[in-house]
Amino acid sequence: MKNVMDAENYHQLLAELINDHLPKNHSRYKFMDGFLKSVNDLCFRFEHEKEQLKALVRPSERKYAEINRKLKEEIEHRQESVQKLSEGISKLDLPKDYKLPDFDGDNLFELAVFIKKLLIYQQGIEIQLRKAKEDAIKASNAKTEFLSMMSHELRTPLNGIVAMTYLMQQENHSAEMLENIKILQFSTENLNVLINDILDFNKIEAGKVELESIDFNIKDLVTNIKKSIEVHAASKEVEIDLEYDESIPEHLIGDPLRLSQIMNNLVNNAVKFTDRGRITIKVQLNHLSNDSAAIDVSVKDTGIGIAEENLPRIFEKFAQADKQITRRFGGTGLGLGITKKLLELHGSKIQVESQVGNGSTFFFTIHLKTAVQPNTIVRKEEVFDQHTLKGTKVLLVEDYPINIKIATRFLEKWGMHYDTAANGRIAVEKLAKNDYQIVLMDLLMPEMDGYTATENIRKFDKKTPIIALTASVLNTQDRVYEVGMNGFVTKPFNPKELFQKINKYALRA
Ligand code: ADP
Repeated sequence: MKNVMDAENYHQLLAELINDHLPKNHSRYKFMDGFLKSVNDLCFRFEHEKEQLKALVRPSERKYAEINRKLKEEIEHRQESVQKLSEGISKLDLPKDYKLPDFDGDNLFELAVFIKKLLIYQQGIEIQLRKAKEDAIKASNAKTEFLSMMSHELRTPLNGIVAMTYLMQQENHSAEMLENIKILQFSTENLNVLINDILDFNKIEAGKVELESIDFNIKDLVTNIKKSIEVHAASKEVEIDLEYDESIPEHLIGDPLRLSQIMNNLVNNAVKFTDRGRITIKVQLNHLSNDSAAIDVSVKDTGIGIAEENLPRIFEKFAQADKQITRRFGGTGLGLGITKKLLELHGSKIQVESQVGNGSTFFFTIHLKTAVQPNTIVRKEEVFDQHTLKGTKVLLVEDYPINIKIATRFLEKWGMHYDTAANGRIAVEKLAKNDYQIVLMDLLMPEMDGYTATENIRKFDKKTPIIALTASVLNTQDRVYEVGMNGFVTKPFNPKELFQKINKYALRA
């Protein structure tokens, strides 16, 4: 430090104090020198510490400014959020007496109270919705049960009409009578299709249809469909082309029955709505991977076409493009609804392109697994030969006299030996005493039903095949197998199907 006695070296503050308060000759007093030196040191030390403090305080100020900026941003953000929240709430479909309160952004309490009230209101709605859903499920179940019951009621008399018509056809009649029988048969078949369609639709809607996974050949399937519709098509000057891609694997795994149903619906419609021209069924490989094949299927016709505004409706149940359709072509409007749902079960979607007067194309892509080990067992074509069942001993368990009459007429025709039982209890007794090669078992009967009878029979006879005769297609299949039956035939039974089932299961003598 410089010599403090040198007045020029005093701290500026001290220099000013000396100048203001001390006499000019103050240096005369010896003690002053030491005193001023100490004060001067203090002044400089104070100055030094002040500088140090400033250096220390400076970063905190920066931080303070930073915090301030963030706070400001936070406040702006909050105001924006509150604004958006209130805009959102005002757009909600609020009940009439729920008014969004005026609130300022600083006091969110009222908004919180309002939101809580809204939440309670929403919970109330949720409870109502859940209840409505439960009621709808109950109603839907009631509908399914009703249809199942109706199917039984309708199918039993229809069984009689179908079988009698079939038998009448076999007899000799005048030309006029034969014509009448043909009309009767046509109407009965239509009624049969309608009942089956309604039941099928109901079954699919109730989630009761499960797809099978069996080895099949898609080329055979479409070729058969083409063949089966050709006669009808020819009667209308309509030709049918099949463009089949030979690179499609021969063995695929899927549900051929349901796939046939889909294809039949589309091809039948194409023929139905085309007066002359051409139907083209195209089946092409879209993509082949290690274990599956994507196949493009389309059915194109040159028929009446569908107006664009009607396109979305045609896949709804009981919907037809317009009212003229029913009058001119008949139909129920269920076929495409079933087709759509069956394709959905396959993970696929039915699509359509159409122009009025120029025809329609219905198309979809289906994914099917390829068979790892092709099933080489070729099933023998089952022949509907009247002599095949000759002498086969059958027990017919049925309570309804008309059904007994119909079934026994067929059994007689096929040269079978039959015995009858009017209910399940009698059937159990008869099986305990006699041998039969097959049992045809009705399900709903007085005293003892077909299920219970089968359970009792299976306690002492595991061998004799039992085929259920069922008028209801809903809810019965699983139980039929559970109680130990071997298969089932739905009524009104198709004589050929009954014949084939007996032929397949009957124990050979
Ligand atoms: P349906 O044929 O029993 O009336 P669908 O569900 O099979 O019932 O068809 C619904 C409607 O879609 C038909 O009534 C018809 O208007 C229209 N449609 C279906 N296929 C065709 C087609 N190939 N050409 C023209 N219209 C069609």
